Formats: sequence, structure tokens, C-alpha cells
Amino acid sequence: MKKTPITVARGDGIGPEIMDAVLHILEKAEAAVEPEFIEIGKDAYLEGWSTGVPDSAWESLLRTKVFLKAPITTPQGGGYKSLNVTIRSSLGLYANIRPTLSYAPHVKTNHPDMDLVIIRENEEDLYTGIEYQQTPEVVQSLKIITRPGSERLIRHAFEYAKEHNRSKVTCVTKDNIMKRTDGLFHQVFNEIAEEYKDMETDHWIVDIGLAKIADSPEQFDVVVMPNLYGDIGSDIASQISGSVGLGGSANIGDENAMFEAIHGSAPDIAGQGIANPSGLLHGAIQMLVHINQPETASLIHNAWFKTLEDGVYTGDIAKGSASVSTLEFAEAVVERL
Ligand code: NAD
Repeated sequence: MKKTPITVARGDGIGPEIMDAVLHILEKAEAAVEPEFIEIGKDAYLEGWSTGVPDSAWESLLRTKVFLKAPITTPQGGGYKSLNVTIRSSLGLYANIRPTLSYAPHVKTNHPDMDLVIIRENEEDLYTGIEYQQTPEVVQSLKIITRPGSERLIRHAFEYAKEHNRSKVTCVTKDNIMKRTDGLFHQVFNEIAEEYKDMETDHWIVDIGLAKIADSPEQFDVVVMPNLYGDIGSDIASQISGSVGLGGSANIGDENAMFEAIHGSAPDIAGQGIANPSGLLHGAIQMLVHINQPETASLIHNAWFKTLEDGVYTGDIAKGSASVSTLEFAEAVVERL
């Protein structure tokens, strides 16, 4: 099979450790991909690229249109733009698909029946990074919600639900307070729901909605949210499924796509070789489906699941009992391919 060129960033913190593990599994599974490496993130910021993405990286990203990205550290403080926000908006990646399910009994969770997909709006809301210093004591941040942005995201969520034989789409907003911004998102949800009469729908205010996801995630199926709530909600969902290290995500646009773990660069454990590569591996599995290599995606997913069934765990899953390193875990997956 002809190899598909993919752009790969090894990232910061635990990024290189988990990316090496994932690329090792892809290679041994004979995934037909040709990685092209770009240097983005901390070093690029320090070299003076305010977005963390040098010009040379855009060339590869715009050509391959498929990006496998390890987590990046965004430097704190003024002058630096978030690389993630820049890439998502520059590549038009409007939908962030974050599936979370239980792997009980192999991964400990209080929610053995959870199986939900959070679809997070990826370009708008409070994440546009438009902030002003009004006076020395007052700062302002703009929350932007648009009708076209909400429509394509919410339609994507209903189409995803239909395609994946899911029966309910839930909308989460705070439109009791943010009547115009979240009000528009909710209104668009109600309008599009009318086009999908067979789909069950409901709506939760974000505070109780996320509390319900944390307490009884099995009641949810597909959940569509504005950017900030989706970011928070998907970390909660992944953590209660067993570890934030498990979740992968697909960032989808009309022309480009980016695949990553949902977690960050975990500086607290970087360099120790103990991070769980599963979140990034799940992103890579979504990538293989996207580039039309579903058999390789299944092969890797089955080997990964068998690894957990056989009790091979990284520290975040083992929670105190015997655990293996990042590379030992990857090797265990390879042995089960
Ligand atoms: P984090 O997700 O990096 O870490 C939170 C906690 O989860 C830490 O205790 C960490 O050790 C643990 N953890 C995360 N991934 C793990 C894994 N694979 N295996 C085992 N344990 C894991 O969140 P943070 O500490 O708030 O953020 C650190 C940096 O990451 C920040 O600079 C932030 O901006 C960045 N970040 C990047 C992305 C991205 O690139 N997509 C996403 C979120 C945060």
C-alpha cells in the first residue's frame, strides 16, 4: 500500500516519550504512513516564533493535511500565543471529537458502563485569545460564538451520532447567564435537532451537566459543547474512566485533521519514561481510520486492549500495583499485534 505522508510533532514534556512509543507501534503494525517531523512548541517559542510554529512547519502541515501531535507546553505569561489555538484556527479544525469509554474490569473505574463522546467546538468561545488590559486593574476577555461556527459543529455532532449508531445528543451551555453567546449555541442546537427527529436530544446547564457527567456518565451518549466546557468536560470524562492518560482526540476540519492525546505535556513526570502512551495511541488510531486504514486501526486497538487484559499497566492505571515503563508498555502492545 502507498504510504500516506503525515506531519508529526514530538512535542514537549512527556511528548517525545509517548510519541516514540506510538511511532514504534505504528511501524510494527505496518501502518502505511510516512512521518515528516516538525519542530514546534517550547524551543520554537524560545527562538522567537510567537505562535510556537515556525514557517517551515506550516509547509508540511498544509501539504500533508494530516497531523499527529504530541502535547506541547505553552509558556506562561504575555507575548506567547497558544500553539494549539493557533493550529486549530489556522487549519480550520472546528470539531474536536473526544470519545471516552470504560475498559473495566481491566482499568479500574466506578463507571463500567460509560461510553460517551464529547464533541467540543474548537475555534470560538473564550479560546480566541482576544484579551485586553482595560485599566491597570481591569482585564477583559472576549467570548465569541457565531451562528455559522455553531451550525457546522452541531450538525457535525448529529451526523457523527447517526453514523456511529448513537441514539442521543446532549447540548451543554450556560445560557441562563450568557443569554446571547451560549443562548445562540443552544438555539442553533434546537434548530438542528428539528432536522434529526429520530435522535433523542436534551440540554443541561454546564454546572449540573458536568456534575452529572462526573457522577453518572453512563446516561450520556454524544455531548456537544462550546470550547471551554468541552475542554473541561473531556478531561473529567477521561479521568473518571480510569486516567486522563487514556483519552485521544481527533480535531477535524473540512480540509485538514489533527490527532492528539487530550492531556497536556505533564511536566511533573517528564523524562521519567513512565507516561501512559495510550491517549496519543488512541489519537493515532483515529488518524488511521481517517486516512482509510481501518484494518490497521483495529489491529492496534485489539493489541492494546489485549495488553490491558493481560494486566500490563503504566503507573497511572496500576495505581500503586506493579507497572511498566512507557516503552515496555509499547513493546507489550507490539508483542500482541
Ligand atoms: P497535564 O494534562 O499535562 O497533566 C495533568 C496531570 O495528569 C499530571 O499529574 C500528569 O502527570 C498527569 N498525566 C497527564 N498525561 C499523562 C499520561 N499520559 N500518563 C500519565 N499521567 C499523565 O496538564 P497540566 O499539568 O495542566 O499541563 C501541562 C502543560 O501542558 C501546560 O503547559 C499546558 O498548557 C499544556 N497542555 C497542552 C495540551 C496540548 O498540547 N494539547 C493540552 C493540555 C495542556
